[in-house]
Amino acid sequence: MKLRRMNKIYAQTNGYFWLPCPICDQMFGGHEWDATLRISQSQGVGVCPDCVEEATKRNTEKFGYSEYGIAIALPQSKKATPAS
Ligand SMILES: [Zn+2]
Repeated sequence: MKLRRMNKIYAQTNGYFWLPCPICDQMFGGHEWDATLRISQSQGVGVCPDCVEEATKRNTEKFGYSEYGIAIALPQSKKATPAS
């Protein structure tokens, strides 16, 4: 199990979300958000850093491409800027 405590503290003190990854259930913060798992053509949910590859694979299988969609974020959270 990875040590997640510092990431949790960082997320909570800086207003980022702290939610389970939709792929692996590991908790992760908005500041770690690098990729989005698409749930439709225009919507998706953020995945943890460990699941970037899996999200890309699933997006490509389901939609034929894997660029970032419009991410769903909690109203009070800051949206993390995807790494370029
Ligand atoms: Zn994950």
